[in-house]
Amino acid sequence: MPEPLTLYLAAPRGFCAGVDRAIKIVEMALEKWGAPVYVRHEIVHNKFVVDGLRAKGAVFVEELDDCPADRPVIFSAHGVPKSVPAEAERRAMTFVDATCPLVSKVHIEAERHFQNGLQMVMIGHEGHPETLGTMGQLPEGEVLLVETVADVAGIAPRDPERLAFITQTTLSVDDTAGIVAALKARFPAIVGPHKEDICYATTNRQEAVKAIAAKIDALLVIGAPNSSNSKRLVEVGRAAGCAYAQLVQRATDIDWRALAGIRAVGVTAGASAPEVLVNEVIDAFRDHFDVTVELVETARERVEFKVPRVLREQA
Ligand code: SF4
Repeated sequence: MPEPLTLYLAAPRGFCAGVDRAIKIVEMALEKWGAPVYVRHEIVHNKFVVDGLRAKGAVFVEELDDCPADRPVIFSAHGVPKSVPAEAERRAMTFVDATCPLVSKVHIEAERHFQNGLQMVMIGHEGHPETLGTMGQLPEGEVLLVETVADVAGIAPRDPERLAFITQTTLSVDDTAGIVAALKARFPAIVGPHKEDICYATTNRQEAVKAIAAKIDALLVIGAPNSSNSKRLVEVGRAAGCAYAQLVQRATDIDWRALAGIRAVGVTAGASAPEVLVNEVIDAFRDHFDVTVELVETARERVEFKVPRVLREQA
């Protein structure tokens, strides 16, 4: 007889509106222009999604230089530095920008502060495509990057009285609050958003994990190792008291030996992980335990973003 196990399924989990729109953009571009359609960077950070689009004719490249000028190219949901669309225009390429509107909102904020003569501090992860894209909205040196509270002491702005801050959209809400507090303590004149620029999807997925953390012996987050919001969910689970919190790409990554003897598990998925992988993980648990699924819903999401007009028009 398999052991009983309660599986707490976090909601919201998985695809956000920005990821949904970005995938639709690639699918609609393939319909409109036929294959191949080039995509600069993984459209969203999920191998399963990327492999599925590749099978339909999308070609994933890291740089615009790798795309021929006579095929359409799509920019990923994470956003791109201004130099990228400028180069596509110079080469007279057809391009569609799948940057999430909530990332574009941060780009606009950065531009507005820059026009007002403020230097920017960005809270984000070095090297992440979203950070590169947001920093690339402004000339070099205009955005200072901080990743931790300790980094705040090390930055040397031009004028401490003329500063603004912006953030990556997929950070830990709690860690970011600490960094914002450190910035305000060192630079009392700094201006910024009401709290930070973390998006609704990141916030909601973290809240849902916090709601289940106290009930569970283990947390599995379905997501890719390069997915920022998924990695934050693992950290949030650990910080909320769940000692065993792991990122898994799919069911085959689950370490069953480590889960032997547990009575309750939490399952969630990062914003770029499709629901089919959640179902795969639940089915795998059913193969090992006598599972009862309990949904823990902390918010309902109704956000939807339209695809760009060029894809809504008839070919
Ligand atoms: S995680 Fe947030 S910012 Fe990123 S694509 Fe989804 S909705 Fe947009």
